[in-house]
Amino acid sequence: QVILKGYVDEVPKETDMEMKVSKLELKPPSQGSSAILVKNLYLSCDPYMRGRMRDFHGSYIPPFVPGKALEGFGVSKVIYSDNPNFKAGDFISGFTGWEEYSLILKTDQLRKIQPDDQVPLSFHVGLLGMPGFTAYAGFYEVCSPSKGEYVFVSAASGAVGQLVGQLAKLHGCYVVGSAGSKEKVDLLKNKLGFDEAFNYKEESDLGAALKRYFPQGIDIYFDNVGGEMLDAALLNMRIHGRIAICGMVSQQSLSNPKGIYNLFCLISKRIRMQGFLQSDYLHLYSRFLELVSSYYKQGKIVYIEDMNEGLESAPSAFVGLFHGKNVGKQIIRVARE
Ligand code: NDP
Repeated sequence: QVILKGYVDEVPKETDMEMKVSKLELKPPSQGSSAILVKNLYLSCDPYMRGRMRDFHGSYIPPFVPGKALEGFGVSKVIYSDNPNFKAGDFISGFTGWEEYSLILKTDQLRKIQPDDQVPLSFHVGLLGMPGFTAYAGFYEVCSPSKGEYVFVSAASGAVGQLVGQLAKLHGCYVVGSAGSKEKVDLLKNKLGFDEAFNYKEESDLGAALKRYFPQGIDIYFDNVGGEMLDAALLNMRIHGRIAICGMVSQQSLSNPKGIYNLFCLISKRIRMQGFLQSDYLHLYSRFLELVSSYYKQGKIVYIEDMNEGLESAPSAFVGLFHGKNVGKQIIRVARE
């Protein structure tokens, strides 16, 4: 198991977590329970999990419990079930523990995966899982895109950003992404089909960089990072632009938050800026699955994964998210199918 040692105020470090061997009774769930016992195959590393490492109870999801295993989205195989909706051998996706085996008591949010030779199982924590759905809901429902619009995506090569950019291209938009390394910029331009991309770490003036890529201004900013990039984007928005506030991964240290100075642009340019949670749009999930899996099978989109091997690699993979180490969707392969 990967255990959270205690609450964390700064950017998470590997030493905030520890590996522990515990004994899980592999006996069937008790009579009358609807629990299932699963073997975890893939675990998803997601930036939002950092919020659960704080001792803060006012968010949309409660904090992790120090001394207990972390939890997150995963793909698992059912080993034993007393639940009529699942049987041994089924593959499922949904919330599970950061551990080799989990006893899942709350099964109502789990999704059964229909095995499909054309779609890797791991995609159910990425392209066809929560991050892919975030891109879909955020782009179509929050950004209200139109053909021909100018779209900017930050953290563009990541789990969410890479799909936002590709959906925007399929929608007929002009798309520019920012990312934190040359390798990621090359991926955006040469593999993911973005019109342009730049390394924000090499820009001394983010506002000037955006002006260079969007001389006519930005219609849609899909914001994955917050902070200085959001401030710079505000200055470069067009009148009636939309900003989808998806995440604030640049604001991970409580002691060093960055101020936003350009909010007046919301008024002068009549911008709509909206925060959103993918979970508010779950009624659209089956439509999303149908559209995005068919795009994938037709070769209209690609999806890049960064796969770490073994549960022991989970703490460093998770911490790496906050230093841009992941190239694409960060996943831990805990076991082979
Ligand atoms: P990514 O796969 O994009 O991984 C995180 C990336 O963030 C890193 O690779 C790094 O890329 C970038 N990053 C890290 N630190 C900084 C920093 N200080 N400044 C700028 N960029 C940084 O993550 P996801 O695609 O899974 O998530 C993207 C965002 O979406 C996150 O903010 C997340 O919290 C949010 N989110 C929101 C949801 C919602 O419902 N609203 C649901 C899911 C995710 P680089 O090398 O380019 O810097």
